[in-house]
Amino acid sequence: MKTIEEMIMEENKRQDDYVELIASENFVSQRVLNAAGSKLTNKYAEGYPGKRYYNGCDIVDQIEQRAIDNAKKIFKANYANVQPHSGSQANMAAYLSVLKPGDKILGMSLSSGGHLTHGHIVSSTGIIFEATHYYVDEKTNELDYEAIEAIAIKEKPQLIVCGASAYSRMIDFEKFQKIAKKVGSYLLADIAHIAGLIVAGLHQSPLEYCDIVTTTTHKTLRGPRGGMILTNDEEIAKKIDKSVFPGNQGGPLVHIIAAKAIAFEEASTISFSKYQKQIIKNAKAMSEYFLEKNVSIISGGTDNHLFLIDVKKSFGLTGNIADALLFKANIITNKNSIPFDTERPMVTSGIRIGTPAMTTKGFKEKEFIEIAKIIFDVLTDKTEEFAISQQTKVIKILRGVNNDNQ
Ligand SMILES: *Cc1c(COP(=O)(O)O)cnc(C)c1O
Repeated sequence: MKTIEEMIMEENKRQDDYVELIASENFVSQRVLNAAGSKLTNKYAEGYPGKRYYNGCDIVDQIEQRAIDNAKKIFKANYANVQPHSGSQANMAAYLSVLKPGDKILGMSLSSGGHLTHGHIVSSTGIIFEATHYYVDEKTNELDYEAIEAIAIKEKPQLIVCGASAYSRMIDFEKFQKIAKKVGSYLLADIAHIAGLIVAGLHQSPLEYCDIVTTTTHKTLRGPRGGMILTNDEEIAKKIDKSVFPGNQGGPLVHIIAAKAIAFEEASTISFSKYQKQIIKNAKAMSEYFLEKNVSIISGGTDNHLFLIDVKKSFGLTGNIADALLFKANIITNKNSIPFDTERPMVTSGIRIGTPAMTTKGFKEKEFIEIAKIIFDVLTDKTEEFAISQQTKVIKILRGVNNDNQ
């Protein structure tokens, strides 16, 4: 029987042999890995720095305080809670800090690009709260703020959620704030995907417009797998602290908090800003290649780190078949619902493509366009044999670059 250690080695190799285009994944630095794999995992630290339930927390207090300070600095926020174990945990804790079960939330629908935790019925957020949704415009596939305002006026939610997992355009937090003010609801921005772009100043920051901001730390932000909650409101901050612990979690993952502190420090550097700029340049270069080939891209392009291809319209394929074919060529994308998709979530009519991970590995426009060409050829040919025949080309592109984050 294989040992777990052998399986980890196999996974390390897998990560080196595939072109990773899943928009929510990234490759962390060795410093972040070392912290995440450190003996800090042995420590219980329920509570917050200076207010713990157990002794022996003086060092982890310093670590958590550093993570908080770094987070506040890079996001220009007055408060940060770095304990949420994941983005989903951050959202539930944030919701329960200002809402009661049964209150109404209004979020972006999953098929329009929102996240399950924005009130989808299979998520506890859709079970505990009364969830309603807004959609992208049917023609442009972009957010239509007038339509969102009309829904908000009709539904009168206690909380509006903005932010997305599969939306390639900028989000106007200021417009959302006007809507939330008009209907008297709280406004929460979930920046799980675009946090890195925001830190680098390449996307409007939600902090001055939203009551609460939640994020993951492992997507464009390039930290360990985890979540975080930010706010500039002192009263809400106190409620968030209580809602995270003891409301929704027990002991914090101190090893992960240390890794977050390091990732936030890395995110404050000039090289991180350059990296974020390159992510966007790469996504634009790739999407422009596809547009020249008459491939249908949702909303007609991208302003950020990802875009969606309508593979049904472009190639007569479903998302699940397209992503399986690309996998045979050592290219990893994910099937993804497109707005108003008629296929089931396990089938879909689209694939989502993101550039953060391979930009970390050193890919520039040239490599991304080479990969785009292979994607186009594989989805045009549609046979497994052809897809497999492209593997050596893909590996050659992978071996031709240097990881810039080690
Ligand atoms: C990824 C994501 C989450 C959830 O993060 P997990 O760490 O997987 O729980 C929440 N919201 C949005 C918008 C996301 O993209």
